[in-house]
Amino acid sequence: MITAETINRIVRFRGNGLPVVSLYARVPTDLSSRGAMVRSQVDRALHDLRLMAKDHTLGHDAIKSIRGDIDRIAGMAAERRWLPGAVALFSCSGRGFFEEVQLPRGVRDRMTVDETPWVRSMLAVLDEYHRCCVAVVHRESARTWELYLDEMRETGKLRLSADPGRNDNKADELTKRHFRQVVTRLDELHRTDGYELLAIGGHRAELPRFIDFLTSDLRARVAGTFPVDDATFNLGDIKRQASAIVDRYERSEEERMVADAVETATAGGLAALGLEPCLWAGSVAAVSHLLVQDGTVTPGVICDYDRWLALAGQICPLCERPVRPVPDIIDELVQVVIDEGGSIKHVGADTALKEYVVAASLRFPLPSQPDG
Ligand SMILES: [Zn+2]
Repeated sequence: MITAETINRIVRFRGNGLPVVSLYARVPTDLSSRGAMVRSQVDRALHDLRLMAKDHTLGHDAIKSIRGDIDRIAGMAAERRWLPGAVALFSCSGRGFFEEVQLPRGVRDRMTVDETPWVRSMLAVLDEYHRCCVAVVHRESARTWELYLDEMRETGKLRLSADPGRNDNKADELTKRHFRQVVTRLDELHRTDGYELLAIGGHRAELPRFIDFLTSDLRARVAGTFPVDDATFNLGDIKRQASAIVDRYERSEEERMVADAVETATAGGLAALGLEPCLWAGSVAAVSHLLVQDGTVTPGVICDYDRWLALAGQICPLCERPVRPVPDIIDELVQVVIDEGGSIKHVGADTALKEYVVAASLRFPLPSQPDG
């Protein structure tokens, strides 16, 4: 499973003068073509890198680093059998940096060589996945799993210990006690695993009763419930139902966030809509939360000295140094926002963001822009 620590290490890495190779390869579901498809994308990337390694204007250290990247990536492609979805490789051998991240859904094949890792595809994919606790609760038993990145991992089992016999009152008391134990367990899991969402399965008739036992904290995390009418259930079916709940939650969260940003900006509040104001907001570290339309790429310029970002220009108006053209200014904005401790949300849902491309909630009102 992918940890937050790995992701942060990649996002924060800088080549400090050496090139960083970022390679994304789609891994098809179809087993017969999988190996060949991945190999051809990796071969294309390696071909481009070999040409680059002949460019002596890059300097000795950069060429040596790229040669090391070629060896590492070629070796990895020869030995690994990646799962369907995509694989992202980040390499800067001159700085001893190599990371491999298996992504659960396909992204565009892409190879970039830049001073920083190209992380937007990876973040866009990971953003679609919330850490969810799945609980199937019956009157006499309960099981819990963690669902993250399309993987289910069992996290616990509870079983009613005493036999209620034929006394209905006693049976009812035992059910209540069992439900309270399940709630305690869910609370513990929340403290240790830090899940965002809860998906709860059980008998249709019993679910509302169990929900009543949840603490208000846990109840706020319930993203949905699903019927499980048999104690001998099918695990694949549980996973499907829980995944559908998480997907629905994701779409509605995206819609709500975009609507909030548009409403706040329209009312003259702390929000910015569109590339130009958002790039300026990024330049002055004013972005607390950035919404990005998934799959859009726009060229622009960046000042490497003070991280001034813009769509075009020759000279940075803040420090009067020359700027560096970049193939995707949105990716640079994402990096800057992450560096400044802001958060990112890639939006795949059909919302007003398609028109604006980016929107930001702000920490403070934007100062007026300097003349470019
Ligand atoms: Zn500058």
